[in-house]
Amino acid sequence: MSVQSPWVDCFILGPIQMRCSVVTDRATGDTVIIDGGDEPQRLIDWIDGFSGQGPDWSNGPISKDQADSQVIPARRIVALINTHAHFDHSGHVPTLLQHYPVKWYLHPDDTFLQTLARSSAQRYGLEMPEPAVADIDLVDGEIVTVGSLSFEILHTPGHSLGGCCLRLLVDDGPDHVFVGDTLFAGSVGRTDIANSGGDFTVLAHSIHTKLWPLDPASLVYPGHGDTTTIGHEKATNPFVGDAAGAGSFTRGRFS
Ligand SMILES: [Zn+2]
Ligand SMILES: [Zn+2]
Repeated sequence: MSVQSPWVDCFILGPIQMRCSVVTDRATGDTVIIDGGDEPQRLIDWIDGFSGQGPDWSNGPISKDQADSQVIPARRIVALINTHAHFDHSGHVPTLLQHYPVKWYLHPDDTFLQTLARSSAQRYGLEMPEPAVADIDLVDGEIVTVGSLSFEILHTPGHSLGGCCLRLLVDDGPDHVFVGDTLFAGSVGRTDIANSGGDFTVLAHSIHTKLWPLDPASLVYPGHGDTTTIGHEKATNPFVGDAAGAGSFTRGRFS
């Protein structure tokens, strides 16, 4: 199942400025929260009632009146999915799950990392709830269908053991790929974060084998920084792109 003209709201959350993407099927209202790591009330206020600060970027309606005029049904959260378990991406998932009683999807290789979300955040002086336990394992190569939205799961270890990229299958335009901290515009994820199993060789292999074969027009939503496309990064990324050569970089710029 693929979606037409998905509505994506991007929220840049918390002190680490992590991108949370809220993806909605305009035909059904079915909505998935990807990486609900921080500022849960801000997300809830906007998703449920178009109130509060709202997203930092959106290709959809920016008020209830606009949604009504475009005949978009009220949004209904059908799942929470995480690209990986670093606390900036997962810390407030338990808060969201209290408000939206849905299943939470995570790759099992990040289960241990997830147990550390609260203590890792405390080192940054941030208070997070007791970590949640994922309900459903993401599996490489599988298509996860939640409500009327389908994502292909691409397991891309290297930044963390269980890191995944989520490819939203789109009917009438380029696919949207939510890549977490695997790939950034002009950079790649760090490989030196404690307890994460980071490894640049593994990360580069993941990107070369799972992301570069995708349609070059695919839109890329990284966990930090600007959006980009697969084709642009493959051509220009100084760490893993075609021009990178054999390089010996071991880390990128972001967490
Ligand atoms: Zn990360
Ligand atoms: Zn991050």
